[in-house]
Amino acid sequence: MREIQASRREPFSKNDIAFTKKPSLSLMQKLEILSDSAKYDVACTSSGVERKGDKTGIGNTVSGGICHSFSADGRCISLLKVLFTNECIYDCKYCINRKSNDVKRTSFTPQEICDLTIEFYRRNYIEGLFLSSGILHNPNYTSELIYEALYKLRNEYRFQGYIHVKAIPGTDPVLVQKLGLLADRMSVNLELPTAEGLKQLAPNKHRKSILTPMRQIQNGIMSNKNELMLYQNAPRFVPAGQSTQVIVGATPESDYEIVTVAENLYQKFDLKRVFYSAFVKVNEDKSLPALPGGPPLLREHRLYQADWLLRFYGFEAKELLSEDRPNFNVLLDPKCDWALRHLELFPVEINQADYQMLLRIPGIGVKSAGRIIRARKSTRLTFEHLKKLGIVLKRALYFITCNGKMMYNTKIEEDYITRNLLSVKEKLPIDAGGITYKQLSLFDDKTFLESQSGAETLKPHQIKEFQEEIIRVS
Ligand code: SF4
Repeated sequence: MREIQASRREPFSKNDIAFTKKPSLSLMQKLEILSDSAKYDVACTSSGVERKGDKTGIGNTVSGGICHSFSADGRCISLLKVLFTNECIYDCKYCINRKSNDVKRTSFTPQEICDLTIEFYRRNYIEGLFLSSGILHNPNYTSELIYEALYKLRNEYRFQGYIHVKAIPGTDPVLVQKLGLLADRMSVNLELPTAEGLKQLAPNKHRKSILTPMRQIQNGIMSNKNELMLYQNAPRFVPAGQSTQVIVGATPESDYEIVTVAENLYQKFDLKRVFYSAFVKVNEDKSLPALPGGPPLLREHRLYQADWLLRFYGFEAKELLSEDRPNFNVLLDPKCDWALRHLELFPVEINQADYQMLLRIPGIGVKSAGRIIRARKSTRLTFEHLKKLGIVLKRALYFITCNGKMMYNTKIEEDYITRNLLSVKEKLPIDAGGITYKQLSLFDDKTFLESQSGAETLKPHQIKEFQEEIIRVS
């Protein structure tokens, strides 16, 4: 196998790392800076890989998604979600860590990443690690440090918990391959939906350098699957698949363009997830939109709903939106909106509709559609049955019949149904005072931070405080 040459040729040694020149910070101070710097990265769910600890190390992973929780606004929170470094040689206009910003900079060492992960794991705070990074010196240099951290975790500490690591565009493919053999999930951020947007706001990044590692990881996963069929004990490569993140609202792309890009990524790159991140304006820059109403969280929410429809409900992007109708309805979720534009297909007889059609009925999800299909084998379903099966009848009732009858004498008419659907309160990522952007910080509790300054381990009562904080936010 070709050896990684590039970073070895660089004039940097690990002893030269910028953080050795900075005022020395305690591990907790670094953690404060580097967990806060990571909060805009949303691509962090952990579901998708199942691995039992084999008693030779610590940790395990559960495909039910053990190392993530979700805040009230639907954002994913990973309790050890940190950057390796917030140093960066690039100047992406939307990013708090861009090189032109005057922010406190620091970097972990590989050993510190191991210490934090293991200590937090042992204290039951986390069940995995989400490690992203700015770019220190160059992509290979940074990726080598990350590799060293992961290698130590897996081989010295025998850590078998979940690891999600970012692949830095421009990293040598050999290094990407080596990282993929240690991580459960990898992600390469697309950042902006189009090459044009990227050019405008991230002039140091290029679409090709983002798609190249994405393709490499996809091919690696495919060939690993074949290998595993032949050799059960072959090392696993990115077993939880790859994901990406797209910033929404920093550039003028429509929802239609964004869902079309997401659909292409799912189809052509086999991505496990596309994460949408409402643009949060953290820098003053004339090329950034003003966003007087704050981050477009409602738009982000609609995109997640549409993404769900693409992945699990058999919808295509072109069914949901079009060039003539390029953005989602802010008042109705994309499935209700689609149903209202296709009233000619409704009402659907619940005792006869096929699975695909059931999935298209507002108020019926993947699980409840499956339950209907199974229950129909033994009886003809009534509205009473549907309630018990968990169908959301306050949405579905306008679109279905049971044994030829609707639940009430309702009109199949767009305005009438829209008015009634709008009276059903939808759970949105918006609080009573307007749109908010909040993400769990390890340091939300300042007294906790102050009490920790200089300390490198956590005390039992602080563990309790921390756990209460976790429960409160999630
Ligand atoms: S590469 Fe761009 S987005 Fe990533 S840390 Fe650097 S400036 Fe921020």
